Amino acid sequence: MAKTRVAIIGAGKVGATFAYGLLMSGVANEIVLIDSNRAKAEGEVMDLEHAQAFAPPTRIAVGEYGDCADASVIVVTAGGGRQPGDSRLDLLKKNHDLLAEIIASIVRHNPRGVILIATNPVDVLTYAALQLSGLPAERVIGSGTILDTARFRTLLSQHFDVDTHSVHAHIIGEHGDSEVPVWSQANIAGINFAEFCQLHGVPGATLGEIFIRTRDAGAAVIQRKGATYYGIAASLVQIVAAIVRDQNTVLSVSSLVRDYYGINDVCLSLPTVLNRSGVKEVLPLRLSEDEIGKLRHSAEVLRTSIAALAGRKSAAAGD
Ligand code: NAD
Repeated sequence: MAKTRVAIIGAGKVGATFAYGLLMSGVANEIVLIDSNRAKAEGEVMDLEHAQAFAPPTRIAVGEYGDCADASVIVVTAGGGRQPGDSRLDLLKKNHDLLAEIIASIVRHNPRGVILIATNPVDVLTYAALQLSGLPAERVIGSGTILDTARFRTLLSQHFDVDTHSVHAHIIGEHGDSEVPVWSQANIAGINFAEFCQLHGVPGATLGEIFIRTRDAGAAVIQRKGATYYGIAASLVQIVAAIVRDQNTVLSVSSLVRDYYGINDVCLSLPTVLNRSGVKEVLPLRLSEDEIGKLRHSAEVLRTSIAALAGRKSAAAGD
C-alpha cells in the first residue's frame, strides 16, 4: 500500500484528539506527532497505540521535524488556546512567534506538502504561514469556518428536525466574531429555509438566534470545560481526507482570497474545492448585498490584525 503520512505539530488537546480521529478513520497509514514537550507526545502515542488493535492498520510515532519530509499534509495545532473571556485575536501575538519557528522547520524538510493550520487565530496565522513559508497559496490552508459551518448545520438540523447531512448551509469569512452566515443560499434538499418553515410549521423567527449560538458556540464550550477539541478534530480529519484521497470535496476552509467581491490579499473561509494539490478552486457564491457587506467587513477585521502584526515586526526591526 502507498504510504500516506500525516505529521501533526502540537500534541495537545486538539492535536491528540485529531490524531485519534485520524487513526480510527484509516485516512492515513502513518501518523507522526511532534511537540516541543516530547514527553507529552510520547504519552499520547503510547495511549493511541492502545487503540491500534481496533483501528485500520496505521503506524503511529513520535517524530522530529525531519519526519515531515515525506508527509502529504502537515497539520499545525501547536500553541495556546483561548482562556475564558479571551478573543481569538488575543492569541495572535503569542501564537505567531511560535508559528514562525514551526513553519521554518517544516519548510526546511518539506517544501512539497500541504500545510494545514488549526492554531488560532486561524485566518491571520494561515496568512502568516503563507508569507513565512513562501509556498504556493493553494498549499497553505486554514481550518477556518469548517467548524462553525458544522456547528451551524447541527443547530439548524435540531431546529428543523432533519439529519445534519441534509442541511446545506455555510458560514464564511473569519473564524471568529465577524463570521457570516450565508442565509441566501441555505437550503434543505433545495427548499429554502423560509419555505421549509412555512411547509412544516417551524418558526422562522429564531433563525437569527441560531446564528448567534453558532458564532458563540466555542466560547460557550470553553466557559464550561476550558477548551474545544472534538469538533475541530473531526473537521481536520475531513480536510485531510479530501486532500490525501484527492476527493474534490467542497469545504469551508481558509485560504488566500483573490478578487472575491473586491476582496484581496487576506485569508478567510469560502466554500473551497480541496484535492491532492490543496485548494483546487474557491467557488463563487451568489451573495446578497447584505452578505457581501458583512464579508467585506470580516476581511477588514482580519486585515487590521495582519497590519497590527506587521506593525509589531517593523517596530522590532527599529523602522
Ligand atoms: P493545548 O495547550 O492543549 O496544546 C498545545 C500543544 O502545543 C501543547 O502540547 C504544547 O506543548 C504544544 N506546543 C507549544 N509550542 C510548541 C512548539 N513550538 N512546537 C511544537 N509544539 C508546541 O492547546 P489545544 O487546546 O490543543 O489548542 C491548540 C490550538 O488550537 C489553540 O491555538 C486553539 O485556540 C486552537 N483551536 C483551534 C480551533 C479551530 O477551529 N481552528 C478549535 C479549537 C482550538
